[in-house]
Amino acid sequence: MKCPFCGAEMLHGYLNCGTTLWSTKKHKISLLVDKKEKYALQLGPPALCPHHVESDCCPKCKTIIINGSDYDNNLD
Ligand SMILES: [Zn+2]
Repeated sequence: MKCPFCGAEMLHGYLNCGTTLWSTKKHKISLLVDKKEKYALQLGPPALCPHHVESDCCPKCKTIIINGSDYDNNLD
């Protein structure tokens, strides 16, 4: 896919990660969510190997795009 910011062809790959949480709140210690925040891409600690989140990375402006629809969230 083309980068929506600079138009370069993006590289398809994987965000290899452990415990992950996208949130409207900045967490300093725990990744437990509370009722006041909106969150997405909640992934618990990986059992054996890292999580592999399919995504695209722009080689020019370094933007990474993730479609989080397959992952736990409370945005609806
Ligand atoms: Zn770009």
